[in-house]
Formats: sequence, C-alpha cells, structure tokens
Amino acid sequence: MNGTIHTLMCFCFLLLSCTTREGAEVKSSDVMQKETIVVVVAHPDDETAIAPVMAKYAKDHEVYLILATDGSYGVTDHAGIPEGDALVQVRNQEAACSCAALGVHPPIHLGLIDGLGFYARGDFYQQMSAMRESLHEEFTRLQPSIVLTFGPDGDTGHHDHRLVGNMTTEVLLSHDEYADVDLYHYGWTKRQADKFPQWNLGYVSEAYLDTAISFSEQDEERAFASIQCHKSQYPQSEMDEWIRIEREDSENKLYFRTAVRKQERSTSF
Ligand SMILES: [Zn+2]
Repeated sequence: MNGTIHTLMCFCFLLLSCTTREGAEVKSSDVMQKETIVVVVAHPDDETAIAPVMAKYAKDHEVYLILATDGSYGVTDHAGIPEGDALVQVRNQEAACSCAALGVHPPIHLGLIDGLGFYARGDFYQQMSAMRESLHEEFTRLQPSIVLTFGPDGDTGHHDHRLVGNMTTEVLLSHDEYADVDLYHYGWTKRQADKFPQWNLGYVSEAYLDTAISFSEQDEERAFASIQCHKSQYPQSEMDEWIRIEREDSENKLYFRTAVRKQERSTSF
C-alpha cells in the first residue's frame, strides 16, 4: 500500500470521510472508536490555525487544547490592555470562549510565561524544564491517541510556536509509554500561506504534507466563531477580513505531516 495513503487512512479511520491528495474518498469504519486528540499550542488564539479540524473531531471524539503560555505579552494597540495579569485574565476568557465555540473541552493552561524566557526575562531553561514536566503530566493524565502541534516552521515562525512544537515532540519521543501516540505537525501549503502575506506564515512542501483533513462549512463556521472570541488580539476589521478570505477559499482542507505513527488504526481496513 502506498505509504501516503496508508498514513492517511490511519488518521482518517475516525473521520466520517476524508479525501486523499489524489482525490479518492476514504470511508470510515463501521465501528467508530472514540479517540482522545490533544492539540498543543503556545498562545490563546493559536488554535485558530486548525480550528475547523478541532470542530470536526469534537463532534465524535474527546478533543483537548493545551495552551503552553499565558499570553501575558500579547499587547495590542486596539485593545489597550497592558501586559501582565489583566491581559492574562482576558485571554483566558477568550480561550474558554474559543473552546466552547469549537465544542472541545475547556482549555488546559500550563501557565508558562509568554515568551518562554525571551523578552529579557532570562529564565529560558527554567521555562523549558517546566514545559517538559507539565506536558508529560498532561499526556499521562489525558492519555491521547493523537497529538497535533506546530511543525518546525512554527506557523508564523514565532519562537514560542517553534519551542512548543519542539518540546511536544521531545516529550512524546522520550517516554516509552507514548509509543502508541500518533503525532502530527500541522503545516500550511504555500498557497495557503500566501493568502495571508501580512502574517508571514511558514509553509511546507506538499511532498511532506501526507495527511489532508477535509472539513465542512459547519465546522468552518464554528472556527469563525472561535476567531471572533479573540477580541484582544485582532481588531474587528482584521477578523472580518480573515473570515472573508477563508470563506472565499473553497478547498476546506487542512494539512498535516506525520511525525510519529506507531498505532495501527486501520483495523477495519
Ligand atoms: Zn501564537
């Protein structure tokens, strides 16, 4: 079996249906196994990148969002909220709003400090060690079967994104107990990245994006509702434009690269 298709079928075992890069429809099994899917990102609002896929899975599976940092440095001109606790409170509420909109469990906050030791705090190694320990604790508690996180491009290239994706990968690779956890890095195609030149998004060669997940208009509407929660981060005009661009894009697919796949989910194939 073609490796790409096999990987796709494994990941898509839990989907109602999904489409291979070649366009062939892959059907789900008759007996659906409930999976625990954990999404690990750096900041409240990072989940918006793969929000339609989270909404899709949340209908039939347990989907959790782990937010590594508190977002305390996400100051914006339009919101005018100073860095620190006041901003953390607002962003916590926004993250809760977003998760509710997507139908996933309430956000899990690791409480690391935005910037992970950059921003002149000088406690990089302490932050890394705390993140390693906290992720291990959460994975042990949640027992995910699938983990989704940033690839090496870090979505926007932000250092926190790169570090969170890297640490998530490190933790899963360093413990034998996670041998059955499948890990996927999400990535933009060049075409997708080019839709938002102002964000300077990283992208991945389509040769490596071996898993394509389609989503419905309804999933996408839930994602738009989650975007609208993050009012401290985006002026209304920017959110409107973002949603307009996504509405115009009828591809309705997100792409992932398999980082680790150990579990055979293809019992029905
Ligand atoms: Zn971010």
